[in-house]
Amino acid sequence: MSRIVLEARDIRYRYPRGREAIRGISFHIRRGEKIALVGPNGAGKSTLLQMFNGMIRPDSGMMLFDNEPIRYNTSSLRQIRKRVGFVLQNPDRQIIAPTVYQDVAFGPVNLGYDEPAIREAVAVGLRHVGLEGFERRPPHQLSGGEKKRVAIAGVLSMDPDVLVFDEPTSGLDPSGSEDLMELLDELNHDGKTIVISTHDVELAYPWADWVILLLEGRILQEDVPDVAFGNPEYVRMAHLSVPTLLDLSVELGKRGFALPGRKPRSVLDMIDIIENLLHGSCRNPAPGTISVCNVDEEATSSLSAWVKTRPGLAVGAMGTRAKQRASQEQLTLEFTYGVIDKCILRALRGQDSLILTTGSMVGRVAVRVEAYCRESGNIISVVSMSTAEQPPVTGLMDEEVRQNDHPH
Ligand code: ADP
Repeated sequence: MSRIVLEARDIRYRYPRGREAIRGISFHIRRGEKIALVGPNGAGKSTLLQMFNGMIRPDSGMMLFDNEPIRYNTSSLRQIRKRVGFVLQNPDRQIIAPTVYQDVAFGPVNLGYDEPAIREAVAVGLRHVGLEGFERRPPHQLSGGEKKRVAIAGVLSMDPDVLVFDEPTSGLDPSGSEDLMELLDELNHDGKTIVISTHDVELAYPWADWVILLLEGRILQEDVPDVAFGNPEYVRMAHLSVPTLLDLSVELGKRGFALPGRKPRSVLDMIDIIENLLHGSCRNPAPGTISVCNVDEEATSSLSAWVKTRPGLAVGAMGTRAKQRASQEQLTLEFTYGVIDKCILRALRGQDSLILTTGSMVGRVAVRVEAYCRESGNIISVVSMSTAEQPPVTGLMDEEVRQNDHPH
């Protein structure tokens, strides 16, 4: 089991001239985990998050980072803020400099990095969030989603171990929210511990490894998502709702259907359950194939040429760089979020797909598909695009291929 990175021991906090916002909270967070603090407005989520990097000091009790109590002198606070990056709910409050470059450089400059190190840190931050080329832009001219990414790049430029997001998707449209959650997954996959606060149960349920339900400054319950959200009484007390997939499986169970012990966390899980109920098995004798392309290693134009020769192929992209590459090559993306599961669903219907991605996420595809196959008994092949077989010669001209690709 991984090490504890953050710990709260019986912390309490009252705002000056305000009410007691945190009323005796203890918990710990392990390195590499994805944690959702969930509760209604005023539950204390934001106050608690601000204790993770010393922005708020508890009146009593103790916050620990890497098993050491957080200290509140200037140099200790500087250190903890390098290790625990905080992304505010409203990027306008976080972005302060006149250009994107200066804003992202703010942390490294304050930490006393030399000029080449600052340049490198900014480049890394902007690359992570897909904003290379935005260096000279004034942040106030950017969209809400882009501003959020600038704020995240500013935090990433200090290479923190833990990233804390207060209501990460607030103010973003559904597709911006999906992109952001995908980015959080990517960062987590690169080893960052991620803590978010939210009152959106549909967002927290499939995403989090661990859920902490907060109400009136206290922990109501903490557990894996299906248990944390599985107690209707607690969910009601916290003014939340049971996530739809969980609700659906509980309702099926009440109607006497035999369901697996593991609760569905995704549409894919739910489809498996329904297939099992209908047919006793969800095995497809001729499943489709999932090809994977590391866009950093694939030469320009060979990608779109490859896709063109495969009519009916669905393309999905995981991660910012992969999405940018798809857009450069004018590829229509069918999936931009939950890509692996959606490609597994296609494969179960006997259809092929291609996942564009980068770096360590290439391996994640095979790991996820393998885990699914082990559980479900299906056999789905994951092949690297560069080694995938050439498709049979169809005799179709390019134009016909394109038409097949877009039947409508
Ligand atoms: P949440 O993030 O769950 O909405 P908050 O941590 O923002 O909750 O607020 C917890 C409680 O503390 C609420 O009762 C809120 O009114 C109060 N509070 C938050 N910020 C302040 C402040 N700056 N001054 C006084 N009271 C505050």
